[in-house]
Amino acid sequence: MASFNLLYLPGDGIGPEVMAEVEKIVAWFNAEGIARFETDRGLVGGSAYDAHGKAVSDADMAKAQAADAVLFGAVGGPKWDKVPYDVRPEAGLLRLRKDLGLFANLRPAICYPALADASSLKRNVVEGLDILIVRELTGGVYFGEPKTITDLGNGQKRGIDTQVYDTFEIERIARVAFDLAKTRRNKVSSAEKRNVMKTGVLWNEIVTRVHKDEYASVQLEHVLADNCAMQLVRWPKQYDVIVTDNLFGDVLSDVAAMLTGSLGMLPSASLGAPDAKSKRRKSLYEPVHGSAPDIAGTGAANPIAMIASFGMALRYSLGLGEWADKLDAAISAVLAQGLRTKDIAGDLPANANTTQMGAAILKELQKVA
Ligand code: NAD
Repeated sequence: MASFNLLYLPGDGIGPEVMAEVEKIVAWFNAEGIARFETDRGLVGGSAYDAHGKAVSDADMAKAQAADAVLFGAVGGPKWDKVPYDVRPEAGLLRLRKDLGLFANLRPAICYPALADASSLKRNVVEGLDILIVRELTGGVYFGEPKTITDLGNGQKRGIDTQVYDTFEIERIARVAFDLAKTRRNKVSSAEKRNVMKTGVLWNEIVTRVHKDEYASVQLEHVLADNCAMQLVRWPKQYDVIVTDNLFGDVLSDVAAMLTGSLGMLPSASLGAPDAKSKRRKSLYEPVHGSAPDIAGTGAANPIAMIASFGMALRYSLGLGEWADKLDAAISAVLAQGLRTKDIAGDLPANANTTQMGAAILKELQKVA
């Protein structure tokens, strides 16, 4: 039986509440002998700051380095708004991304049929939607130097950010996208702005070369990032995998996310380079939403984004894609039965809290097992 090390970093606010529902599913996997999960837990964000004055400790970083997959809840909240900048809750997540070398961010946008009316787009445009945005996460304009605001001395200031990409950064993110496309509908759309940006010209050139040399069997198209934004709201089903840089990916993944309704539904994965020996990638799985301090402790949090993030771990880190499919089917079934936490209930009252939603999904999973 396959055996894995899972690290839970539940974090703050609703993080521990939604993580608890994943922990029950993992315990069931263990009890049924489907896989053997060795689990450990650590602190991140405000809870880590309260315990030892850091947003994540070195000991917990070492656990993250050793894990087959890290499951991350959410960090932050008003209690820590005034802590020093370098130990603010988000610094924990940034350190994890940096030290684990997580350069590829995967954001699926899946529209469950039962929630198609929750989208701001028409049902026929979004129903059955299943696309994946692969965003470069560690380079580009968010990190490029120089990054300054200079006083020009004449009453004017100048702000500078630098968009910079090297060949290897584009090659490795392109490979992630092509590999994923092979497991899906075999199509990659590469989004950049080659018409006005040198990094766009290079991006286009490298993606084209990687495709020709290594992935000729995958369908590749190039699309200007602004056009991609338009196409996403016009007819998103034309896409399978979209690969793009850090800045465009930030924007396009949020556009795609909202095609499908609530923040409480959106999972994500961040992957690093494959290990030379084991071929396994460092990885972190987290819901897109934050710690939702406004509902923390009320039982109103939707655990689906966190549970679906665990589903992505099954698929992309643990080689249990069949179980990821079953988990997705369980989520879909529960939604089709009409179970709704407050965030996805629309104008109706909610008929499930966090633990009821988690329990219903586990029950459906047990039926298909
Ligand atoms: P948020 O995502 O926490 O909440 C936005 C809104 O969506 C809130 O009304 C919240 O109640 C609702 N919501 C979010 N997740 C939900 C869920 N699972 N079920 C039901 N409703 C849900 O964003 P915010 O309010 O801007 O930020 C709150 C805190 O979270 C801040 O401290 C922020 O810095 C932090 N944050 C952390 C992360 C992260 O850990 N990755 C991401 C975003 C924000």
